[in-house]
Amino acid sequence: MRIDIITIFPDFFNNFFNYSIINRAQEKNIVELHIHNLRDYSANKQKSVDDYQYGGGAGMVMTIQPIDECINTLKSQREYDEIIYLSPDGHTLNQKICNKLSINENLIFLCGHYKGIDQRVRDIHITKEISIGDYVLTGGEAAAAILVDAVVRLIPGVISDETSALTDSFQDNLLAPPIYTRPSNFNGHKVPDILLSGNEQKINTWRDEESLRKTKAYRPDLLEE
Ligand code: SAM
Repeated sequence: MRIDIITIFPDFFNNFFNYSIINRAQEKNIVELHIHNLRDYSANKQKSVDDYQYGGGAGMVMTIQPIDECINTLKSQREYDEIIYLSPDGHTLNQKICNKLSINENLIFLCGHYKGIDQRVRDIHITKEISIGDYVLTGGEAAAAILVDAVVRLIPGVISDETSALTDSFQDNLLAPPIYTRPSNFNGHKVPDILLSGNEQKINTWRDEESLRKTKAYRPDLLEE
């Protein structure tokens, strides 16, 4: 998979993508991440990327020219499955969206700033709008980083134990069951006996029941879906 991220803060991503699973996915050549500085595509001398709002009002708006130029340049080089704008008024991100995105070849993530982007970019180029939750961030970079992480870990071969991602929370509209590791007794706090029994069938049943119990307690809305 190739992901192109368009941003006015390219340095934001340096550290984020150099750790753990995202880093390994790049080393294994399963994922290519390309960061594009939007200012490089600005046609004006000052390399500005924003302007005042038509109709007045507080906050600058990201102009169409550099975004259009950047997206057209990328589109002239390959076909993209989705061009995604990270935005608080987009579809709220969930595991189903991540699963679907993880089977794509080429994706563009556009990060907004200020008051947002000129509506015409959305009308002309954007194929999907994704929000990471009902709150407003300063910019789309943190949201794009979250989306990369959530999608990349689902690509086959990225996580060494492939069943691991499939047994995480939300995959079956359930929360994951409790997990434990050694020691089996920590100052009197014991691991449930069933997990030490070696009986795989009983352990699986216990895990299913615990998943259901947690989901009913914390996220009953998932069971209604
Ligand atoms: N005026 C916009 C509104 O009310 O919907 C908010 C703009 S916000 C200050 C600037 C940028 O941050 C947005 O263009 C978007 O890229 C990003 N952003 C903010 N909140 C986000 C969220 N919950 N999910 C994804 N991106 C978000």
